[in-house]
Amino acid sequence: MKQLSHLSSEQLWNWLIQAHQEAKKGELPHYIPLLKQVNPSLLTLCLITKDYYTLNQGDSHITFPLMSIIKPFLLLYLLSKLGEELLFRKVGSVPSNYPFNSLEQLRLDQGFPRNPMINSGALTLASLLPGKDGDTKCQNLQQWLNQQGKSELFLDELMLESVQSLPNPRNQAILDELTRKNHIKNPEITLDTYNKICCLSGTIIDLAKLGLLLVNSQNIEQNYVSIVTKIMTACGLYEASKNLTTKIKFPSKSGVSGAILSIVPEQGAIACYSPPLDAQGNSVASLYMIEKIANYLNT
Ligand code: GLU
Repeated sequence: MKQLSHLSSEQLWNWLIQAHQEAKKGELPHYIPLLKQVNPSLLTLCLITKDYYTLNQGDSHITFPLMSIIKPFLLLYLLSKLGEELLFRKVGSVPSNYPFNSLEQLRLDQGFPRNPMINSGALTLASLLPGKDGDTKCQNLQQWLNQQGKSELFLDELMLESVQSLPNPRNQAILDELTRKNHIKNPEITLDTYNKICCLSGTIIDLAKLGLLLVNSQNIEQNYVSIVTKIMTACGLYEASKNLTTKIKFPSKSGVSGAILSIVPEQGAIACYSPPLDAQGNSVASLYMIEKIANYLNT
């Protein structure tokens, strides 16, 4: 495999110009008002290698919420705190063919969340975070990530207000089902925690640095890293995970804000952000960039 650090900034820039065109095919999400108002032509990318060689391009100063990209890091944190056995009593690790916020899938599985990358799994894991309320639970995760990843994630309060401004009946129904099955205990705190951790925000560089936690972190057990990256490979890109993984080949996770993080095993991470999404909810331009880089590395 070629080296991430050998990619030239000219090459990246050319792909970025094409990605900019591709982004026009996508649409902004409707269900979070602030995400609907964001400038659709924002585009930025950061490559980082395990020895911290960093190359970033585009609107690298802007910040965005991680949304579902927090899910693999929630899993990593809880694996480190609770261990594998306890954690997988609460959530599975198999892909789902249903959308990320499907109640049907949860019902078919008798209330046992299939994996931590879909909302039922992430809500369940959010309930396991240490802390008495949503604020403390979110802060504990935030502090750990910032310490381990040398990142500067912060809670975007305006984004949180926007998330809370419209009811989210799907997440509510999932929460009701989890509570009915006694899988979680405090649905209000759980939802508050989940919304907050989805609104943890940072720059593309922060996201790329977090990616390094899944490459060569000295403080995190390698076994936990393998568990997380395996689940990302199988479930990280919504219903498109199976198709896209054959193309991209790297463990990846996307979020509704338009970011995608891909891990290049043993080398580093690629983070990309562009708000317009395809029908499955993956950022069109981010996918385009990651596919181009993956092709380059894999040939
Ligand atoms: N807050 C979002 C939700 O639960 C996160 C979704 C995502 O990024 O996929 O709907």
